[in-house]
Amino acid sequence: MNTPQAQSIAIHPVDGESWQQQLANSPFSAKALLEWLELPNELLAAGEQGAGDFPIRAPLAFLQRIEKGNLQDPLLRQVWPLIEESQTPPSGFVLDPLGETSSNPTPGIVHKYHNRVLLVVNGSCAIHCRYCFRRHFPYDDNRLSRQQWLDTLGYIQQRSEINEVILSGGDPLTSSDKRLFDLVAAIEAIPHVKRLRIHTRLPIVIPARITDALLTRLSQSRLSVIMVVHANHANEIDGNVAHALRAIKQAGIHLLNQSVLLKGVNDDADSLIHLSERLFECEVLPYYLHLLDPVVGAHHFDVSEHNAIALMAQIQKTLPGFLMPKLVREVDGRASKTNIPIPVNQQD
Ligand code: SF4
Repeated sequence: MNTPQAQSIAIHPVDGESWQQQLANSPFSAKALLEWLELPNELLAAGEQGAGDFPIRAPLAFLQRIEKGNLQDPLLRQVWPLIEESQTPPSGFVLDPLGETSSNPTPGIVHKYHNRVLLVVNGSCAIHCRYCFRRHFPYDDNRLSRQQWLDTLGYIQQRSEINEVILSGGDPLTSSDKRLFDLVAAIEAIPHVKRLRIHTRLPIVIPARITDALLTRLSQSRLSVIMVVHANHANEIDGNVAHALRAIKQAGIHLLNQSVLLKGVNDDADSLIHLSERLFECEVLPYYLHLLDPVVGAHHFDVSEHNAIALMAQIQKTLPGFLMPKLVREVDGRASKTNIPIPVNQQD
């Protein structure tokens, strides 16, 4: 993703700001964030060092859900860099854990699975999640002009087995409506593409991005549209987010959530149960719970597979099957995500 220079900016209320204004205002210096969240200044040096070349970025609409003064807040832990990020990683943690740069046949496309391709629509996000597996992705090599984008779509056109296109990034919804709608129209013009999947964290972090114009355009598509949002903790879903999620569903768009299992954020049964329940209240089905991808800078979030299985066994005592996310790991070179089964002897 882009790594804009962190800057100290005045923090002002979100009410009345467009999503574009909120997005433009989302980079924060470590100092501004500490002051606004009333956290001790002694954290500053470690925070600045941890951020390194992946600056702090979070919109105020997200920061407002963090409990001030609480360094353990599960939302704060997703955006505040710890000193561990700049330490030598344990063995197995690498810059490109999913081998995406070797599945990048032409700029802008990641093609790992037989019948679906992923388009890197842009390299910018509204939030910098400290555990992100793409934090080192070479977005600069994948930044395309509009015309290059249209040419790149020729790759899909020539492969009739591709029936699903996934818009990813960065976050595809940080693009303007014009750019996004042009791209959607170009994909719609490829007859063998049936589904359009949009992977985005924007409805969670800046719910104002879910505008009538966006929903109208997507609901008019000839493609089946699936939006996969990304929330890791129930506290991320406040009233504005709930409203945006329900509006997406009411527009006829399939709505799923994927999460990452993160130490200190959601690695306890209560957090995972509340997340599934809260998602369902907002008409979202839990889809995947990912084990952390071993990316350099994120090892302190890692939860072992053994502990993850034990947690899944625990939450399935409470949750109905349709609210159980699939526990998965993505392994470089495999033709699909790897499901992690819960052993029978750990089930009820
Ligand atoms: S997890 Fe998604 S939203 Fe977060 S930094 Fe990575 S690409 Fe951006």
